Amino acid sequence: MSPKPRVFSGIQPSGMLHLGNYLGAIQQWVAGQGEKTNFICIVDLHAITVPQDPAALRRQTRELAALLIAAGIDPQQTTLFVQSHVRAHAECCWILNCVTPLGWLERMTQYKMKAQKQESVLAGLLDYPVLQAADILLYDTHEVPVGEDQKQHIELTRDIAQRFNYLYGETFVVPEPVIRETGARIMALNDPTAKMSKSDFTRGHAIRITDEPDEIRWVVKRAVTDPGRDITFSDDPTRAGVNNLLQIYELATGLSRSAIEAHFMGKGYGALKNDVAEAVIEVLRPIRERYYHLIDDPAELDRILVIGAEQARAVAEPKVRLVMERVGFVLAT
Ligand code: ATP
Ligand code: MG
Repeated sequence: MSPKPRVFSGIQPSGMLHLGNYLGAIQQWVAGQGEKTNFICIVDLHAITVPQDPAALRRQTRELAALLIAAGIDPQQTTLFVQSHVRAHAECCWILNCVTPLGWLERMTQYKMKAQKQESVLAGLLDYPVLQAADILLYDTHEVPVGEDQKQHIELTRDIAQRFNYLYGETFVVPEPVIRETGARIMALNDPTAKMSKSDFTRGHAIRITDEPDEIRWVVKRAVTDPGRDITFSDDPTRAGVNNLLQIYELATGLSRSAIEAHFMGKGYGALKNDVAEAVIEVLRPIRERYYHLIDDPAELDRILVIGAEQARAVAEPKVRLVMERVGFVLAT
């Protein structure tokens, strides 16, 4: 029997999870449990590439662990851990920095977008995708299930792996991105030209997984649509708002596109928004309930993360030693 494929994905403790994280990434992680060997990493080293308040970061790290478990990540089946608990990530990142041309990083879209929002851009923000490459490559990852925004970074990871393998001999598995068709890019409700982001705290931008039903109704009701009337799926950028609502509805209900278009035939945007809000409320309700139960027991969460870090280290430490050996370091015993 061939070994199970390895799956790795990361998520930043940079704020409360939103519907885009859930539909674009986490649902896929949950669906793949069991058939594959899964590593899910709470990437706190990545979070500090933009300024974070230390107390908030600590709180958000535990909240994210609770939310991931509430959303269906089973620590018995998935290695769930915090990036900074496994030093191999930072060690491997340094070595990969020394094979990555600067020009590869300067053309990354996420870097350019995030840099624009900062008063002073930190070196870590430019280096973000190299750390991400280290995360993925340390685990001999085959598949990286992510939202569409991360595709460019996974391609860079592949380039870095291939370059290292070329320079120092076959060391890394070259991973593949896995991006679902619907939900890969959930747009902001107040601006359908921008992706929904955890680190945008404007009210109306996102639906957070823990939002109460009334807040979800409020946000969806104010979602930007267009002056037309058609409630049909489309690629037309001027109808991105309605298309986004329809994609959310599709994922929340599991209905086919034709059934959805038939359901909304002859109805207005008011009805669309009402039905989207109610469908999302039903999907999030059990997650929210489990979350409040889990967050009440931080000691249990910490225990789960300690076990996850031990399991992750068992894979990442021998790998980083191999990397060090390949580049010519004298290994400390
Ligand atoms: P930040 O704004 O701090 O970068 P984020 O919302 O982009 O936060 P990340 O932690 O960077 O979240 O990404 C976690 C996962 O969620 C990644 O797989 C990413 O591709 C996916 N993701 C993020 N935003 C969306 C979105 N709007 N639609 C679909 N998937 C998304
Ligand atoms: Mg992001």
